[in-house]
Amino acid sequence: MSPGRSRFAPFLLAPLAAACLASCPEPSPSPAPAVEAPARATVAFDAARAWRDLEKQVGFGPRPAGSAALDATRAWLEAELRAAGLEPRREPFRAPTPRGEVDFANLYADLPARSGDAQAPLVILVSHFDTKRMDFPFVGANDAGSSTATLLELARGLAAAGPRSIALRFLFVDGEEAVRAQWIDPDNRYGSKHHAAQLKVRGERERTKAVIVLDMCGDRDLRFHRDPYSTAWLAELIFAAARREGLGAHVDGPRDPIADDHLSFLELGIPALDLIDFTYGPENSWWHTHEDTLDKCSEESLERTARIVLAALPDLETRLAARR
Ligand SMILES: [Zn+2]
Repeated sequence: MSPGRSRFAPFLLAPLAAACLASCPEPSPSPAPAVEAPARATVAFDAARAWRDLEKQVGFGPRPAGSAALDATRAWLEAELRAAGLEPRREPFRAPTPRGEVDFANLYADLPARSGDAQAPLVILVSHFDTKRMDFPFVGANDAGSSTATLLELARGLAAAGPRSIALRFLFVDGEEAVRAQWIDPDNRYGSKHHAAQLKVRGERERTKAVIVLDMCGDRDLRFHRDPYSTAWLAELIFAAARREGLGAHVDGPRDPIADDHLSFLELGIPALDLIDFTYGPENSWWHTHEDTLDKCSEESLERTARIVLAALPDLETRLAARR
């Protein structure tokens, strides 16, 4: 990795790493109503539509936090979620950045549990939807068009399949990217840090049982990394589901600590996983460059990512049911 290109940050989270790298502690089970048996209904994932959603985002052009293009992207996502029968909510906030105060807004939609219990265990699926601010027209097909497209189509499919034993949240976060060229705390993860803080404010922290972050999942040569910050049991659950699905070649990639939106939830003690392929082009050389374009991505990678998540969901539900 050339200097300045890396986002591997083994030094970044020393206290957190010491506390929970081996296996991040799960919150102790809180007394709550029983969880029903997991739903095994098939969930459709229309990969062709997901690909069109990726093309749509690239069509908006560069989409850095605070830009009109990101506003347009957010409004489009909102309309698509609404069309899927979901009720998207905006989470606006203003935060200081190296470029001054910026207005951010996350977007999320919930699929409540089948029981109707407002305190049912909550699993959050996350993608950032901003692109990194560059001094050239950076369109971010893979980062973050791919994960945003995959999460949107997952939301449609899961909403159509109906409520499950657990509640699901589809969370599109603003401002994952550092405003400066380099990733130096606290200049990054603006949206996920805000949402994590809001979980506490709204009393949702305890019911949030797992967070799965999707990022850079459109690489046509797809292989997800093993990030040691990610909660061990959650990573193994997801990767095992991938192997079972015949997608084992796309997981168990290089083991490198990666700083991403999952850290914002790990900092609260919430189990979290970064499902990221951080080898985009030779030695990750397409990452954050003019090379991050549609031709480096594939519809199949969006579909494989979705299949992995969908295969893992029932396992996650079973685990959560067993622990209550
Ligand atoms: Zn990025």
